[in-house]
Amino acid sequence: MNYTSTRDAAQKVTAQQAILKGLAPGGGLFVPTSLPGLNLQTLLGKTYNQVALAVLQAFLPDYAPDFLQQALDDSYGENFDNKAGHVVKVTDGLFALELWHGPTSAFKDYALQLMPKLLVQARAMLNETDETIFMVATSGDTGKAALEGYKNRPGIKMAVFYPENGVSEVQRLQMATQQGDNLAVYAVKGNFDDTQRGIKIAFNSQDIATRLLAQHKKLSSANSINWGRLLPQIVYYITSYLALCQNGAVAMGQPVDFCVPTGNFGDIMAGYYAKLMGLPVGQLICASNQNNVLSDFFASGKYVAKRPLHKTSSPSMDILVSSNLERLLYHETQSPAQVSQWMADLAEKGEYQVDAKTLEEINKTFAAGWADEEQVSEEIAELKTKYNYLADPHTAVAFKVWRNLPASGRPVVVLSTASPYKFSGKVLQALGQVVPADEFDAIAKLEQVSGTKAPAALTALKTKPVRFTQVIEADEMLEVPFTL
Ligand SMILES: *Cc1c(COP(=O)(O)O)cnc(C)c1O
Repeated sequence: MNYTSTRDAAQKVTAQQAILKGLAPGGGLFVPTSLPGLNLQTLLGKTYNQVALAVLQAFLPDYAPDFLQQALDDSYGENFDNKAGHVVKVTDGLFALELWHGPTSAFKDYALQLMPKLLVQARAMLNETDETIFMVATSGDTGKAALEGYKNRPGIKMAVFYPENGVSEVQRLQMATQQGDNLAVYAVKGNFDDTQRGIKIAFNSQDIATRLLAQHKKLSSANSINWGRLLPQIVYYITSYLALCQNGAVAMGQPVDFCVPTGNFGDIMAGYYAKLMGLPVGQLICASNQNNVLSDFFASGKYVAKRPLHKTSSPSMDILVSSNLERLLYHETQSPAQVSQWMADLAEKGEYQVDAKTLEEINKTFAAGWADEEQVSEEIAELKTKYNYLADPHTAVAFKVWRNLPASGRPVVVLSTASPYKFSGKVLQALGQVVPADEFDAIAKLEQVSGTKAPAALTALKTKPVRFTQVIEADEMLEVPFTL
């Protein structure tokens, strides 16, 4: 199988090249040129890693099966508490796919545990001798998951930047206590936009590229536009469906809806690929927080990024440009020229409008909605009191959006993307509790109130030595890659 660009049909690369390059020349995203079919019957009863191997082999023919098997076993075993793809029944017909049992307690571990191994292997197979330098801007979850995935990987250096006052205390401590010889973490004076802008400037600077090359270094991006980050996420749609078949909740072939808390459109796009491969998916429900660019888009076909960004209790969904939507537009239109035009409009005018036929096609698969802060609190409380289910704010957005839609009559799997203990304050507040000032007191209180246990890696932060304390100006970010 090969990969091509959403904006240029002339591009043809292998999986390894797509993963190493990240972004296609000319700015497009890499997409598979064909899609493998699924034989669900043969996958029934298989372990998570067995299903994952079948999926990866189909998409990554230039990686040896033995290598993939080892990479999977190293990624999704004990460090996922042996709970990769864990499905919980909330009530009849309503299920939570808990994706936060990995090392950093957010779903991004699925991609960022596996992808670094794929990237290191791609470097070796393609004889890349220059160091790969990652600059990562994070509003919370991506930074820690990337640090944990890339720590001590040969040939790779990484700098993570977060806005000084823009992440939760747990998220800050997760990053500031990070171990590993090949990485650094900086707080940046300013907001997330300032941080992201710094990275964009570095990427677009020919001067920086030339100076780095003299040091045998190349800049790359670890964000979710890389195919290597999307691919691992296809697996849990399939395994969760199989789990429902196995426990009798659905009959093989019966369609199931998936509701996904969405930011950059990477996670839900993986569900779309699973559907294209033949998974019986009814609707994919795209759930947004107050930053409701996507639900406006699904309603009108007009994508308007030019609007104020709201800071919410689900920071990983505080996004105005959902980059992976470009992949959906490509698959729906099959037209790189059309996609290029829309993306040019987005860059120049901050918006684009798709035609009625494309919108109609998209809406055959997708439904969408959004929830504001008050609704999120309501939903956290309702899930707890009615079903004894504890949800983090991102997950609660999805439950609420599903609940607000007309009932489809199909079972639904809600993707639960972060541990509630990453956001103990908001969860306690939603449950009507007084929130202790100290983060670890809040975690302890949430344990007591909910009768659940916080992930050990989060409680351990209390005693871990803080390693990174540097606060820099946004323009100082540009010098960091030379110091790694
Ligand atoms: C990143 C993230 C999301 C959004 O996922 P996308 O792939 O960007 O749509 C949702 N919830 C949590 C907890 C996240 O970290």
